[in-house]
Amino acid sequence: MSAVRTVLGDIRPEDMGVSDAHDHLFLSSPRLPGRELCDISAARAELEAFRAAGGAAVVQWTPYGMGRRAADLPGLSRATGVRLVCATGLHQAAHYDPEALKGLRGRLAEVFVSELTEGIGTSGVRAGLIKVAGAFHALDAHARWTMTAAAEAHHATGAPIAVHLELGTGALDVLDLLCGALGVPGHRVILGHLNRSPDPVVQRQAAESGCWLAFDGPSRAHHATDWRMPEAVRDLAEAGYADRLLLGGDTVVAGARSVDGGPGMPYLLRRLRPRLAEVVGVDVVERILSANPAQAFAVDWG
Ligand SMILES: [Zn+2]
Repeated sequence: MSAVRTVLGDIRPEDMGVSDAHDHLFLSSPRLPGRELCDISAARAELEAFRAAGGAAVVQWTPYGMGRRAADLPGLSRATGVRLVCATGLHQAAHYDPEALKGLRGRLAEVFVSELTEGIGTSGVRAGLIKVAGAFHALDAHARWTMTAAAEAHHATGAPIAVHLELGTGALDVLDLLCGALGVPGHRVILGHLNRSPDPVVQRQAAESGCWLAFDGPSRAHHATDWRMPEAVRDLAEAGYADRLLLGGDTVVAGARSVDGGPGMPYLLRRLRPRLAEVVGVDVVERILSANPAQAFAVDWG
């Protein structure tokens, strides 16, 4: 039987509800000094704001070693009534101490499987997806290593693989590796940040593989392309791929939270939902917000 693995246990996919399919409650990286998401009361307030806007579930894509705070997630989910799914996986090398990466050599897939099936650290909280990352218009050795381990963990568990595309690029290289060389079914791959490189032809080619296309934002860093998201969603829906689309807020720094004066998680429902309804209609938007994430994160865990 298929289930979405939340921080409070497995649930029926149809119980997931209106979802922010890509976001972060907690995240820290040496690349974002002083801008970490690490404040529990701010995380709670953001979830409450999302819930008040009609949100039911949030999928946190923060991977291994980046301050996920897995042990704090069940309490936050209970307190706010928002379902939470969290990730295992590994980001680009620049987000880690090289020594820490060395310690993962030869056992990365094992770490992913253990976090998906047994739990993250001693928290008892199990991950529901594997997050990895590509490089700019390419796949470097680190990306190949992490994607190979992600594919192995996928084959062992069925878990979906969510991919950070660097500035939205490299989608087809990622699909060639994960689906072509490593045998991961298209529908188990979620490509993130596609709005950051709004090439409609590449997006359609990616959709043809059967993978999920996740659009996110807005953010200051990606304002140059964020505003093109509605037309990308419209083009893909018109080409018959509405059932492949996901939406997320992707809040990565404290200043982007709605409770700190940014758009944050509620923006997805407060502004993006009606904006997209203008171009694809209410029914398609509701499908993208509810039925699609339920399907994308549902796994027969065995
Ligand atoms: Zn993200």
